Amino acid sequence: MKYRIIGHDRLTAVQDMLIALLPDEKHMPDDLEGGDLCISTLERTDGWVVAAASVSRGDKTTCGECREREQSGEEGKRIVSYAVKTALYRAIVQHLESEPVWGSLTGVKPAKPARVYMQQGNSIADTEKWLRDRYFVSPDRAELCIAAAEAALETERKLRPDEVQLYAGIPFCPSKCAYCSFVSNDMVRWGHLIEPYHRALLREVEAAGVMLSRENRRIGSVYIGGGTPTTLSAQQLDELIKAIRSSFDLSACREFTVEAGRPETITCDKLEVLAHNGVSRISINPQTMNDQVLENVGRKHTVADIINAYSMARRAGDFDINMDLIAGLPGDNGDSLLNSVRRVVELDPENITVHCLARKKGAPMRFGKRGELTRSELDACYEVIEKAGYKPYYLYRQKYSAGGLENIGFCKNDKKSHYNICMMEEIGDVVALGAGGISKLCSEQGQKIVRICNPKYPIEYVERADSIVNKKLDITL
Ligand code: SF4
Repeated sequence: MKYRIIGHDRLTAVQDMLIALLPDEKHMPDDLEGGDLCISTLERTDGWVVAAASVSRGDKTTCGECREREQSGEEGKRIVSYAVKTALYRAIVQHLESEPVWGSLTGVKPAKPARVYMQQGNSIADTEKWLRDRYFVSPDRAELCIAAAEAALETERKLRPDEVQLYAGIPFCPSKCAYCSFVSNDMVRWGHLIEPYHRALLREVEAAGVMLSRENRRIGSVYIGGGTPTTLSAQQLDELIKAIRSSFDLSACREFTVEAGRPETITCDKLEVLAHNGVSRISINPQTMNDQVLENVGRKHTVADIINAYSMARRAGDFDINMDLIAGLPGDNGDSLLNSVRRVVELDPENITVHCLARKKGAPMRFGKRGELTRSELDACYEVIEKAGYKPYYLYRQKYSAGGLENIGFCKNDKKSHYNICMMEEIGDVVALGAGGISKLCSEQGQKIVRICNPKYPIEYVERADSIVNKKLDITL
């Protein structure tokens, strides 16, 4: 769809709404004659901003409008974006077969506006109504938003002033999954980099430890993620965790997670290392419990490997276990997805995270159009999970996700991941180590965030280890 903007400069607002509602179309500025066209205009009259949109597709033209009180400064900019998006939403939705469950709410953190609204003293019922009336969010998704917002508010209340969350990334995997755009280096080709990477990471751990002790900060949670951290050998894992334990003040650490991820990398000796070093939470990620679908996406393991890794983990230690599933994988359908969910629920992990497949530019495999996953298929999965006693507690969305749907973290017995909530809802500071690590230093109640980025690729990370160490030492919190 071509777009034309008149009277405002909110290009991103226009593009975000077009992508959210018409993800399978290409959107470009109006510089060609003919074809579908969307016109977004804005006028300011008597203290009001008035946004209008007209959308012509084929032989159907629709219109939408939104009037908002004019405001100054940053709030004024937000109001203009809101008005532009809302007018567009009202025009575009008339071309769709059904209303999107997330309405006009774009962005990856849908719980954040609900949390801010609740912090202003609004009740749950008022917040639900506000999400429905102002953003056209469906009642069930508004409920999800509230659940995630409440978990975030609870986390915010208990956050100590000296608390910081720690992330360390291991960007290696046994093979590349077809849907993944993450900078994960497969071990067959890049295995020789693991040891130098590990050494460089130990140096950064030490530097970050010096910095955080100088700043009188204690660790609230540790998350070793990836990639697949269990591509490290048992000895490397032992060294890394021991280095973290000796470099940081973990006296008030609430949770220590290691993503074990791919079951073929999980061995008894690695699990013993995790258990002996006080790791409290691990992830074993099936993505699907269907062998054919695993093969379709380039995972080099079977469902039997997942079940075996899970029972080894249960025997090795008292871990809280998370299991990730992805809805909308190629070769999967509503029934087989539901079967995967049921089989994971039977295993009874403390956490289940359901992701919706998202098309990503850097991923090796191109998927078909969005919409291969329907809302009712996903809702059926949620029903099974919730009936088994799990509750949703964190939430995020991705551009180009199947069906325009969401990713949800569920927990049983209130075993919420502290790190996941802090990271997802941008609560407090996160210090990130390793290639691709992005430290986020928050101020003004999460409204202002300074990001400090490490080099993306492991080879750069190894080569630039000296400057990374110095940069870490220079951080002030
Ligand atoms: S295991 Fe995870 S990080 Fe590694 S390639 Fe697969 S999806 Fe990406």
